[in-house]
Amino acid sequence: MKRLHVLGIGIDRISLDEAVERSLDVMDKRESRYVITPNSEFLLCALKSPGLCSAADSAFLSLPDSVGVLLVASILGLPLNEKIPGVDFAEALLEKMGQRGKSVFLLGAKKGIAEKAADKVSIKYPGLVIAGTSSGYYPPHDEDKLIERINAASPDLLIVCLGSPKQELWMHKNAARLHIGLMAGLGGTIDVLAGAVDRAPLKWREAGFEWLYRVYREPKRILRVLRIPLVILVSLWYRIGGKIYE
Ligand code: UDP
Repeated sequence: MKRLHVLGIGIDRISLDEAVERSLDVMDKRESRYVITPNSEFLLCALKSPGLCSAADSAFLSLPDSVGVLLVASILGLPLNEKIPGVDFAEALLEKMGQRGKSVFLLGAKKGIAEKAADKVSIKYPGLVIAGTSSGYYPPHDEDKLIERINAASPDLLIVCLGSPKQELWMHKNAARLHIGLMAGLGGTIDVLAGAVDRAPLKWREAGFEWLYRVYREPKRILRVLRIPLVILVSLWYRIGGKIYE
């Protein structure tokens, strides 16, 4: 594995299988380390957020979630092998965790969705233990109670789906007081696992058009997609200016 610095954010050149194996190893050490899954919007956001940069710097793994990140990296002359969407990583990891009888806590999404996702994954991955669930919408003063609940459940994996950059900042802030194996910030993954949001058909995903499908299903995401040309311009600017960090 090699960590490349794409617009100042470390992104790992790693395969899905290796990412899963490394995650299982780290999980066993129970050091509450975390995985992030940056997309191109994340890179743009991090340019103006030192807090997000330091959350990214502390990540144990940083997986390129989208073709946008691959494109930005290639403009900068930093080849990444493959994208690893957060949902693919979650599914592959949960499958292996089921085979080893490991436990997961699902945090995030609207009320009731994490429970639905838990029901579905416990059927799909026999052996997987559901340590707990929580919606991602709670008053800030309830955060301590939530941390206590997670610590009492002591999961091997905590899936954190609070949207970006909230989930990365949350993991960075709380890592030291969590007693868990590993956590991963995975955006809309709980919605997908619950069947509340459907993924693009495989052909769209393989062609790198998952983002277009998501806009088609949720037109208000167009505002987010409009930031992609901006991040491409920034990368070209960096490239022309010779600001490349490997
Ligand atoms: N979310 C949450 N709490 C918040 C804000 C967002 O639980 O305070 C959830 C939201 O309901 C959704 C997820 O975070 O389930 C973010 O999904 P999105 O598709 O926007 O993430 P992406 O994969 O695009 O980063």
